[in-house]
Amino acid sequence: MSSTKRAATVRLDVKVEEFPLQCVWTRHPANDHRCRAKVSARKVAGAWRRELALGAPTGFFHFDWRGEEWLAYGLPGGEVRGVYCPTHRAEREERLGYDPQLVLTAAVQHAS
Ligand SMILES: [Zn+2]
Repeated sequence: MSSTKRAATVRLDVKVEEFPLQCVWTRHPANDHRCRAKVSARKVAGAWRRELALGAPTGFFHFDWRGEEWLAYGLPGGEVRGVYCPTHRAEREERLGYDPQLVLTAAVQHAS
């Protein structure tokens, strides 16, 4: 009984670590065109934990993947919710008209 349960836990851990995160971009409002770009969840989580260790606030952060800059949203526990591929990161930032890095910096300064 207990050995079966342990085996199931191990399988789940591997699945979570290797599960690729897909770019969350969609073509609004139809919401039926998903971007196919994917990134290793383990890679993103590793990048986010380094950001957390440096004192980054929860929220959007940039990370490099195969020489290109992606955007992801980091949670306090070290998990990552949602990624944008380099193409859609640039498109998003252009649409919003700001650099999230600057906004985060401003938020930190405001809070302290
Ligand atoms: Zn994309």
